[in-house]
Amino acid sequence: MPDLIVDHVAKEYPTRAEPLVVLRDVSFELSAGENVAILGPSGCGKSTLLHLIGTLDEPTSGTIALREENPFLLNEPQLAHFRNRNIGFVFQDHHLLPQLSVLENVLVPTLAEGSPSEVQIDRARELIDRVGLAERIEHRPAELSGGERQRVAAARALIHNPILLLADEPTGSLDRTNAQAMGNLLLELQRQENTMLIVVTHSLELASRMSRRLELDDGLVREAE
Ligand code: ADP
Ligand code: MG
Repeated sequence: MPDLIVDHVAKEYPTRAEPLVVLRDVSFELSAGENVAILGPSGCGKSTLLHLIGTLDEPTSGTIALREENPFLLNEPQLAHFRNRNIGFVFQDHHLLPQLSVLENVLVPTLAEGSPSEVQIDRARELIDRVGLAERIEHRPAELSGGERQRVAAARALIHNPILLLADEPTGSLDRTNAQAMGNLLLELQRQENTMLIVVTHSLELASRMSRRLELDDGLVREAE
């Protein structure tokens, strides 16, 4: 049984006139340890699809199942807990909290359930080490480069051992060298953690290193070369 099943998902946004149909009929499956790139022109619905898979928004029709659970049947606090526990997000603007250190930022997802445990603090330190920022653990985001901040965001996304890691143009604001390093890091972390990874990217170079590529066009996806 695949860990992620996206089944005939459609998404419309209401407008004052006709609803805007962004996704018409999107289906695909992903299993633990698999990664996929989502490609397509600006405005085609890539972020919309990632938001739905990330349970941040609900499909207009169709279903999404994560480990055989339909998250949209949960009430709001249950859904927040489900999302926090199972899904890690890396967005283009990393939303680190400026007043917190690298270590504290990585621990932010644990605060929803009280103060972090020793195990979680050890896990945070280990992740920070793995993203190459051991020497920067007490630094504030403003003291880091854009590439380093993205690495903190990747560590933070993994703090709860998510089954699904979602990245929306994670290299979009980085220069070529940092973008390549970030792509390598995401793939390496994904392998080590045996999680699923979905990356929206304009980088054909990054997409070419992922195991599958899905192209979003006119509200439909197709498997690309
Ligand atoms: P992409 O990430 O591929 O650039 P998006 O998923 O962000 O595209 O957006 C797809 C389309 O949906 C765009 O036309 C955008 O304007 C529209 N859209 C996105 N979010 C909303 C929203 N919350 N309400 C209305 N329209 C939206
Ligand atoms: Mg987008």
